[in-house]
Amino acid sequence: MTPPTGAPHPDWDDLDPGAGPALLDTLGRPLRDLRISVTDRCNFRCQYCMPKEVFGPNFAFLPRSAVLTFEEISRLARLSAALGVRKFRLTGGEPTLRAQLPALVAMLREVPDVEIAMTTNGTMLKTLAGPLREAGLDRVTVSLDSIDDAVFRSMNDMDFPVALVLEGIEAAAAAGLPVKINAVVRRGVNDHTLLDLAERFRGTPHTVRFIEFMDVGTTNGWRMDDVLPASDLVRLVDERWPLDPVEAQYPGEVARRYRYRDGAGEIGVITSVTQPFCGTCTRIRLSAEGKIYTCLFATDGVDLREAMRAGASDDALTALIEGTWRAREDRYSALRSQSTPGLRKVEMSYIGG
Ligand code: SAM
Ligand code: SF4
Ligand code: SF4
Repeated sequence: MTPPTGAPHPDWDDLDPGAGPALLDTLGRPLRDLRISVTDRCNFRCQYCMPKEVFGPNFAFLPRSAVLTFEEISRLARLSAALGVRKFRLTGGEPTLRAQLPALVAMLREVPDVEIAMTTNGTMLKTLAGPLREAGLDRVTVSLDSIDDAVFRSMNDMDFPVALVLEGIEAAAAAGLPVKINAVVRRGVNDHTLLDLAERFRGTPHTVRFIEFMDVGTTNGWRMDDVLPASDLVRLVDERWPLDPVEAQYPGEVARRYRYRDGAGEIGVITSVTQPFCGTCTRIRLSAEGKIYTCLFATDGVDLREAMRAGASDDALTALIEGTWRAREDRYSALRSQSTPGLRKVEMSYIGG
């Protein structure tokens, strides 16, 4: 196996002390995070992600044989960690729909010095939070776009009630999992309910992070007019409960953080559209069928499943991951305004956000 090489970029070295050897891409960004999509299926049909018109009864999801096994996922995770990855994030589709998920977490837990997180719609946490925590999950992010039941039911398009997601959040906290809340903001859809969402979690340890609606995939009908700039949102919250900005905790932190001046906790904003953060993007994505993508907006991935199932050695797989990262030059969001319309990008539910 070729060991990770390349002296860390000085800025990263200063900001990321002790993070271990770094594999750098063409823009000097180290490989640090692996987002693992464990399924392309979901029990929601959020209109901004898996609109029913596209992901209907006839949609061809991946057949079981095409999806990576737990052994295959953990093998790639272990090899990525040896290249410098320090955080695994389970995602999907809806990751909790994958049968025996705690068994995968237990396998990933065997990789040393890596944090394991999960992003979920929260619908299965009531039963799964405990087993996931026991298996070694470190933290969870629950997507909840509105605290208004009617708005939430309409946004998930499965008439799923807010109350059950709140129960899932409570179950996760009771199991000892730190919880963050993610809310995608769509102008004219849920922006009138955001202060209520913030209020619901003020005074709790659960930070709400508001995400600008992104032009991922090709099916969600994205228009710039639908994006509420995070700066507007921060102003809105600040008018009600004054906020102070908080320094980033680590390089590559995607959310800009603000603390309530009255001590009731924090909020975050993810400004992927209006203030892109490609310069500190350290994430690689593994799709459920075993392709790696170096950007959320990628049009194509590198197939590791094919190589693995053809008998590739650990060294050969490592070389594939390493070569892909070294060649990486993605900065889609930074270039968004210039050259991106018309690209055939992969869908968010496939690549996992
Ligand atoms: N099903 C899980 C969930 O919803 O948390 C995990 C997968 S989902 C694709 C990951 C994250 O992407 C969620 O927080 C979701 O809200 C976010 N997301 C999906 N489509 C998006 C879009 N067009 N713009 C911004 N965020 C989006
Ligand atoms: Fe499913 Fe998550 Fe996409 Fe909603 S955002 S459709 S819950 S994968
Ligand atoms: Fe990273 Fe691509 Fe998003 Fe830029 S656009 S932050 S490179 S995933």
